[in-house]
Amino acid sequence: KDFRNSVKPNWCPGCGDFSVQASIQRAAANVGLEPDDLAVISGIGCSGRISGYIKSYGFHGIHGRALPIAQGVKMANRDLTVIASGGDGDGFAIGMGHTVHAIRRNIDVTYIVMDNQIYGLTKGQTSPRSSTGFKTKSTPEGSIEPAINVMELALTAGATFVAQSFSSDLKELTSIIEQGIQHKGFSLINVFSPCVTYNKINTYDWFKEHLTSLGTIEGYDPSNRVQAMQTLMEHDGLVKGIIYQDTQKPSYQELAHGYSKDALSQADLKMDEDTFSELVSEFM
Ligand code: SF4
Repeated sequence: KDFRNSVKPNWCPGCGDFSVQASIQRAAANVGLEPDDLAVISGIGCSGRISGYIKSYGFHGIHGRALPIAQGVKMANRDLTVIASGGDGDGFAIGMGHTVHAIRRNIDVTYIVMDNQIYGLTKGQTSPRSSTGFKTKSTPEGSIEPAINVMELALTAGATFVAQSFSSDLKELTSIIEQGIQHKGFSLINVFSPCVTYNKINTYDWFKEHLTSLGTIEGYDPSNRVQAMQTLMEHDGLVKGIIYQDTQKPSYQELAHGYSKDALSQADLKMDEDTFSELVSEFM
């Protein structure tokens, strides 16, 4: 199975997003999907281009709205594996409302955020993931706001799968995406994906120095939500691995099963002529 298409990415050389693209392609193949089993829905930003770079169904949506579109796709055709993706500005600023509600809804979508702590496409402004003191064109004296800790927020909102990884660690990232796809419910995967052009602080070397792998923490149990929250707070969110997973909570699809058993895309929508005429008469 080959999830590569003929479109050449126009990301800057060295951009972390290349690894995310490769990891999604590998993960989809590893879990046994075919290109027509997968839909990749993206928002706006450098990362938003990813839906055009993977051989699958794709939809390049509008800013902050990848998740409403992805949820609609999943509800219309639950047989599809749906991945939503975008950047930290897309998902955690303009799209944050959708992110929180998709989390609490536990709809079966995998959301992969390419978190570079800056707005890259618009040439380098402070994002909600930028640290206090971060200097950009929009905060020349340094940002006075703290960065939003999305992993803590996701746990508070009732997330059932919360993970973090790093573009430099292709093997781990691929494995986490596989587990996210296989998770029944909403999976949030935040990927530290350096912007080599505009973010000169949070570089590959910076992440290598600051990230702690959860695999190195003795006794870490990703089913323990309290421990997950404590660990995030102790490490200021700079951890990688599966932070938390709840395999018991039913997904939105499971709860909605009785309401709409089959994928809408496969439903028999034929109706007799009289019913059709009655319906359209309202609009005549
Ligand atoms: Fe990647 Fe930054 Fe270039 Fe955008 S501007 S493609 S985020 S390196």
